[in-house]
Amino acid sequence: MPSQLLEWKIATVAQIRDETSEVKSFSLLVPEWRTHRPGQHVDVRLSAPDGYQAQRSYSIASAPGPDGRVDLTVERIAEGEVSPYFHDVLVTGDEVEVRGPIGGYFVWEPAFGGPLLLIAGGSGVVPLMAILRERAAADVAASATLLYSSRNWDDVIYREELDRLATTDDRLRILHTLTRAQPPGWTGFARRIDRPMLEEALDGLGSQPLTYICGPTLLVEAAANGLVELGVDPGRIRTERFGPTS
Ligand SMILES: Cc1cc2nc3c(=O)[nH]c(=O)nc-3n(C[C@H](O)[C@H](O)[C@H](O)COP(=O)(O)OP(=O)(O)OC[C@H]3O[C@@H](n4cnc5c(N)ncnc54)[C@H](O)[C@@H]3O)c2cc1C
Repeated sequence: MPSQLLEWKIATVAQIRDETSEVKSFSLLVPEWRTHRPGQHVDVRLSAPDGYQAQRSYSIASAPGPDGRVDLTVERIAEGEVSPYFHDVLVTGDEVEVRGPIGGYFVWEPAFGGPLLLIAGGSGVVPLMAILRERAAADVAASATLLYSSRNWDDVIYREELDRLATTDDRLRILHTLTRAQPPGWTGFARRIDRPMLEEALDGLGSQPLTYICGPTLLVEAAANGLVELGVDPGRIRTERFGPTS
C-alpha cells in the first residue's frame, strides 16, 4: 500500500564506516522494512528538541536484502545542515527517522538486464553501487561499464570494492576519471566527462545500453546530451541529480 511507504519509521544506526575523508557509510536497521529496488532513495528527517526539523534524500547504497538493513553513504558538505550531522554527531545506536523506499524511475532490477552503462560524479555513485551490488549478488550476465568521475584518487568512494568487483568479473569495466589531481603513473582519464570518453565507455556495450547517470546537474546533463549525440536513444537513459548545479 503506497501510504505505508511514506510513513516515517525510526531507524537505528548499526554501523558507521569511513569511505573517504569526506564520505561515510551508515548501516541503518529499519523495522518492517519493505525491500527496495537498486536506485531508490529514502528521506531522512532529523528533529531538534525545540521541534525544528530538517529533511534530505539519500540514495540506498546496499543491494536489497531480507534483513531490514539499509546502507546510506553520505558526503560531508561544508556549511551543510544534515550531512555534517551525519558525520560529526551520529554514533552507533542513535536513531533517525526515515521513510521509503522512494522512486520508481531511477531503478534497476536484474530482470531489466543490460548491457548497462553507469555514469557517476562524486557521491552520485551511491545508487549505481546498489545496482552493481545487486548485479553481482544476482549473478546477472549482462555486461556493465561504470564511468566514474572524482576529483582525486583519494575521493573515489568504494574504491577497493569496485576494484574487487572488476577483477572478479570480466564483464564489468570500471573507468575512472580524476578531474583535479592524479597519482603518479596515472593511466586513466584526467578531465571532465566529454564525448571521446563517452565513446570509450560505450565500447563493448552495443549502441543502446541501458544507462543510469547520477551526480551534479552539470555532469548529468553533459553525459546525457553527449550520449544522445552519439546516438543513444533518450528512452534508454535515466538520470538523477544530486546537490547544486556546479
Ligand atoms: C534523490 C536524491 C538522492 C541523494 N542521495 C545522496 C547520497 O546518496 N549521498 C549524498 O551524500 N547526498 C545525496 N543527496 C544529496 C542530499 O540530499 C543533500 O542535498 C546533501 O547531503 C546536502 O545536504 P546538507 O543538509 O548537508 O546541505 P544543505 O544545508 O542542504 O546545503 C548547504 C550548502 O551546500 C550546497 N550543497 C548542497 N548539496 C551539495 C552537494 N551535493 N555538493 C556540493 N554542495 C552542495 C547547497 O547549495 C548549500 O549552499 C541526494 C539528493 C537527492 C535529491
